[in-house]
Amino acid sequence: MDTSSPRVGSSPLAGRLTGLGTTVFAEMSALALRTGAINLGQGFPDTDGPPQIIEAAVKALRNGRNQYAPGSGAPELRQAVADHQQRFYDMTVDPDTEVLVTTGATEAVAAALLSLVDPGDEVIALEPYYDSYAAGIAMAGGTRVPVTLRAPDFRLDIDALRAAVTPRTRLLLVNSPHNPTGTVLDETELQAVAAVACEHDLLVVTDEVYEHLTYDGVTHRPLATYDGMRDRTLTISSAGKTFSFTGWKIGWVVGPERLVRAVMTAKQFLTFTSGAPLQPAIAAALALGDDYYTKFRTTLEAKRDRLCAGLGAAGFDVFAPQGTYFVTTDIRPLGYDDGMAFCLSLPERCGVVAIPHEVFYDDKLAGRALVRWAFCKRDEVLDEAIERLGQLRS
Ligand code: PMP
Ligand code: GLN
Repeated sequence: MDTSSPRVGSSPLAGRLTGLGTTVFAEMSALALRTGAINLGQGFPDTDGPPQIIEAAVKALRNGRNQYAPGSGAPELRQAVADHQQRFYDMTVDPDTEVLVTTGATEAVAAALLSLVDPGDEVIALEPYYDSYAAGIAMAGGTRVPVTLRAPDFRLDIDALRAAVTPRTRLLLVNSPHNPTGTVLDETELQAVAAVACEHDLLVVTDEVYEHLTYDGVTHRPLATYDGMRDRTLTISSAGKTFSFTGWKIGWVVGPERLVRAVMTAKQFLTFTSGAPLQPAIAAALALGDDYYTKFRTTLEAKRDRLCAGLGAAGFDVFAPQGTYFVTTDIRPLGYDDGMAFCLSLPERCGVVAIPHEVFYDDKLAGRALVRWAFCKRDEVLDEAIERLGQLRS
């Protein structure tokens, strides 16, 4: 190899992507595999979604749905997304012009950022932020401006949000239910976000992939349903979490035609389309009865309670989430203060993998002592993990 050329010898990574490295989820799942540890890191269920939905995908595979789906998505899936928005949120959406099917929520977020953000534009995001946001903003050449949700409550500091807006602010990137804290923005917070967006004429992208995972009677309401928001908001969701098919990577964007068309402009050159035979199956999934959605929520709520109780008994400070797959703990009561070092040594010490919050922050100190655990696992797996974590105190 000719190492005399700087192109060969130095990092080939474009400057925009400096520091992005490998995702913490891939890193921690690889660590779990390597050490045989229980993986409470990456958020994926360890059981499949509804068998009849798998059968619907098999049927589509056998019935010739194997070539490119239309760029905007299979018509029956776009219709099913529109029906879902009407059914759960009373939002009327045109399936032909206001819905776009994407390769998971990840592509939806990336395509939205690439199509709406110019180099130098500022994007306000809730911190800790889901890792692909930082990457998407960087790829668009934008600047990330975090507004921090702080322990123990992880509520939105509305004054901090207002203070974060500058003349360069282009877009608010909101995530509720929020990964990793589990915060579900309440009526007051959502109204404040809407007021800031309207006052400063900002675009809004909301990531609502955990829309059906809220607990203790807390409900999720899309930001797009607030006054003045419909025409400036892109609502993103995905089938991965709601139907336990994270590997299918079927997501969607809903919004006003001019914004959806903008996202389509970027999306068509990223993947054009994907998952053709999975799209009709997800259309069938979205139409499942209320019993499916209710059972899914109550099952995950029980898992949340199970893991929260176990982590509490193991000696952590537990911040029970109102939504999502994840619970956050403070590790300091057990005598640790560095979440990254704690998570890196945990597999060897007691055979469990978790995610350090620190990687989701610009303000590293705010997340340093916090660790995220996924509870979307079988009860016996959660119990075994809890038992292993019991050793930390001894
Ligand atoms: N946003 C959030 C907040 C997530 O937790 C995830 C992980 N599911 C995604 C987006 C990515 O979703 P998908 O797998 O559909 O790309
Ligand atoms: N959303 C999942 C999580 O937060 C990870 C998905 C991924 O690995 N990109 O754990």
